[in-house]
Amino acid sequence: MLPLSYRACAESDLTVQTIGHYLDGALSLGTSGLSAPVFNPATGAQQAEVALGSIADVDAVVASAVTAFESWRGSSLSTRASIMFKFRELMDASRNELAELVSLEHGKVPSDALGEIARGMENVEFACGIPALLKGEYSEQVAGGVDVYSLRQPLGVVAGITPFNFPAMVPMWMFANAIMCGNCFILKPSEKDPSAALFMAKLLSEAGLPPGVFNVLQGDKVAVDRLLEHPQVKALSFVGSTPIARYVYETGSAQGKRVQALGGAKNHMLVLADADINAAADAAVSAAYGSAGERCMAISVVVAVGAVADELIPALTERIAKIVVGPGTDPKAEMGPLVTRQHCDKVTSYLDGAEQAGATILVDGRDVSLPGDGYFLGASLIDNVTPEMQLYQDEIFGPVLALMRVDTYEEGLALINSNPYGNGTAIFTRDGGVARRFQFEVEAGMVGINVPIPVPVAAYSFGGWKSSLFGDLHMYGPDGVKFYTRNKVVTSRWPDPATSSVNLGFPVLK
Ligand code: NAD
Repeated sequence: MLPLSYRACAESDLTVQTIGHYLDGALSLGTSGLSAPVFNPATGAQQAEVALGSIADVDAVVASAVTAFESWRGSSLSTRASIMFKFRELMDASRNELAELVSLEHGKVPSDALGEIARGMENVEFACGIPALLKGEYSEQVAGGVDVYSLRQPLGVVAGITPFNFPAMVPMWMFANAIMCGNCFILKPSEKDPSAALFMAKLLSEAGLPPGVFNVLQGDKVAVDRLLEHPQVKALSFVGSTPIARYVYETGSAQGKRVQALGGAKNHMLVLADADINAAADAAVSAAYGSAGERCMAISVVVAVGAVADELIPALTERIAKIVVGPGTDPKAEMGPLVTRQHCDKVTSYLDGAEQAGATILVDGRDVSLPGDGYFLGASLIDNVTPEMQLYQDEIFGPVLALMRVDTYEEGLALINSNPYGNGTAIFTRDGGVARRFQFEVEAGMVGINVPIPVPVAAYSFGGWKSSLFGDLHMYGPDGVKFYTRNKVVTSRWPDPATSSVNLGFPVLK
């Protein structure tokens, strides 16, 4: 049976094999004639092609969005909110279908995909309430007859460039707020799993969003580079790896654009001697191996203080042994394949080099083998990892958990703070005083206290520190509203009709 979004594509003039763009309210193959293969990670088989946008394709999408902006910026807040409410209802009704689609292209099991859809929809719900956040300020009578007030206005055409690992959630981090603030949005999804973007475009259209307000541009570096230089693209939101985040931030800023670029991560979980071992082990296993470790907030290092490592190891290995690895089509599967053959090979290479570097592999994911050509790798646990090892220095982005041993809280904190990344971090302890000290001292943008993956709810904003974020505003929540609007301050003078010598043309009551 054809994947669902491919059936959606076939409703237009597209062939079922090619996933196209969504431009001006319709599916389009664009003009480049170029495409890239899309694989099913669970089988290794190619299941489609995705169109790769050319410079002309980017220009066509931007032109459509510029035209749509003329009327969208004048739409009432209640009209925008009713469309977003409707979109939320449609997403709710079709979340299983979307989860199946995400699983087909990304590989994560449907329960993981449903999780990302739910977390993404929180941002849609937040965006429905944006009218309350778009209120300006007002100072009456700053001088005789003079008032001053501020307005928040949309930027115009804005673009979002998103990674493969959350093809539904990360776009929702961006477009829900951008559109509700009155902007027109161009989404450039990852070419590895491009269909979720089209699925959501279809639902936005069904919800009543006018053509050109939300667009999908498929593509690679060519498309991104044109978005970065296009004079009518006013802002760019990026989520992906650190080298590309830095490039997008530097290039877009040099073009005078507003840019927020979220990068990679290496998230540590500090476990103190007084921690609840079972709770810490449950947390570490779900945070390290959920979605096969392909999460920017995944825990990739457990930093164990004192003798706690020796207590943690049996608790971790016992849980790891129970993880069921398999394709998303298997209802029993808890961990799916990695996204591509190349990525699977890269993650495996860290295991290949671990013991030679002096680490101890306690659980080896290479031992897990499934029939067929899927990109499966089991969960791995590596002990005695030290800071100079490659497997510590790189973001592995796979189901590999490193265990590092330190003698004190201070040593663990110093290790975390000296890492170049600062996305998320967590502490497990029963001591509120130490937890409070940790939140004060640790250098990371998102901190969990007995919570392994502290992704903020939509009423707060998401962002790391150091090499995990380039720009000043975090993503979604209140920072998202600031990012997608600009402030205007009006100073107005109106003559007092009671004292004015101006002939107003009608009698004034005195
Ligand atoms: P990636 O950087 O390879 O790709 C991200 C996007 O950039 C894609 O749309 C891709 O098409 C585009 N791109 C890739 N190379 C480019 C180039 N040379 N020039 C211009 N554009 C380019 O990232 P990925 O592999 O898709 O995603 C995984 C990475 O994303 C990990 O590093 C992960 O930590 C990070 N991530 C970070 C967050 C966060 O919130 N900080 C969230 C999710 C993922």
